[in-house]
Amino acid sequence: MTAIQVLLPRYLVPVRPDAGVLEQHAVAMQSGRILDVLPEAEARGRYAEAQWLELPTHALLPGLVNMHTHSAMTLLRGYADDLELNTWLREHIWPAERRWLSPEFVRDGTELAVAEMLRGGTTCFSEMYFFPEIIAEVVEAAGLRACIGSPIIEFETAWAQGFDDYFDKAMQLHADLQGHDRLTMALAPHAAYTVTDAVLERIAKLSDEHDLRVHMHLLEIAWEIKHSMQEHGVRPLRRLQRLGLLNERFLAVHMAHLGEDDIALLAGQGVNIVHCPESNLKLASGFCPVAKLLEAGVNVTIGTDGAASNNNLDLLGEMRTAALLAKGLAADPCAVDAATAVEMITINAATALGLQDEIGSVEAGKAADLCAIDLDWPETQPVHHVLSQVVYAASSRQVSDVWVNGRRLLEQGRLVTLDVDKVRDHARRWNGRMAVQ
Ligand SMILES: [Zn+2]
Repeated sequence: MTAIQVLLPRYLVPVRPDAGVLEQHAVAMQSGRILDVLPEAEARGRYAEAQWLELPTHALLPGLVNMHTHSAMTLLRGYADDLELNTWLREHIWPAERRWLSPEFVRDGTELAVAEMLRGGTTCFSEMYFFPEIIAEVVEAAGLRACIGSPIIEFETAWAQGFDDYFDKAMQLHADLQGHDRLTMALAPHAAYTVTDAVLERIAKLSDEHDLRVHMHLLEIAWEIKHSMQEHGVRPLRRLQRLGLLNERFLAVHMAHLGEDDIALLAGQGVNIVHCPESNLKLASGFCPVAKLLEAGVNVTIGTDGAASNNNLDLLGEMRTAALLAKGLAADPCAVDAATAVEMITINAATALGLQDEIGSVEAGKAADLCAIDLDWPETQPVHHVLSQVVYAASSRQVSDVWVNGRRLLEQGRLVTLDVDKVRDHARRWNGRMAVQ
């Protein structure tokens, strides 16, 4: 048995079973798990011999879960902005990737992304990028948690050539990550318009057989509907349903062009939505009807998307944008209240990844993945309402400490497993190499 550690935050936001805020409550951890969540007075008696850490001005939350990103694209942050989506993707991002994509690019970019995410309270992320085996190495070394999507796309890249090669590499990654306590993998077809029916059928079959998540961009732009009608005679969602992809393992990213029928279909099939509000706003893609989806009982989560279209991986900021945008779009200030917003980046995300028994709330028996936000900053005073401060006022810079499996990866703002100077130096090298001509 390893030593017991007890955290005593000013405020505890467990998310489950209580949706509210607890005061004078302690969280005991042992061997990477949450051992107990209990009133301070009881904890003082039961765990008197344990190592205690007081967080006197902090809110302690479950670790945050970023449900969609392309980590290595942090190296493309600010590379091509203020452009129409197709121009941005086809004339800038894809050509840059054709030129620069390499194991070194992915390692440097992912380390930069992981540093940013940990500093902002993200303990788990759902990834989609090339060289996923390198991403797995970076995540493994940094100590956080991830579901790594192995990309599948029609064109060849420096990483894979042809659909068979993409599938072989995906299943190799699946084999390599079997039994890992922090890493899982997903099949990540890029989008409905960059993969064939045969490929999607193969993905549905593998997802069934191996219980794999399928992580895919979908209905990001209106053009996808027109394209699907022309090529397949049906709207994209009906096509995916026909191919057996719509179920509780499916992570549908963006969903900015939905009709009423679509919402009922998504609710009926148990599909998870990954809302990326800032990327959608920046590329003027459209609006995901979050309030309507939640009302219909659909599981809605939040992703930052890559830094090439955001331009940060700040999940607290993304949550705030999501809450505000949902209210504006629904013309209802009660839509997506603060507690709901927090659920979207914690328990809803855990559920989408099939990890609801492991992470997403501060409950005994779960992994000790936690994030402390210091509310003692002028920007978050006075604290009338803790959840309101966290959602509507707190900055990711106020995240002081992060634990994953009970291991402290961010300690009073200092990264423990990453050398931030080295990470920054590696990122800077790309500045010179990729100088925009
Ligand atoms: Zn994306």
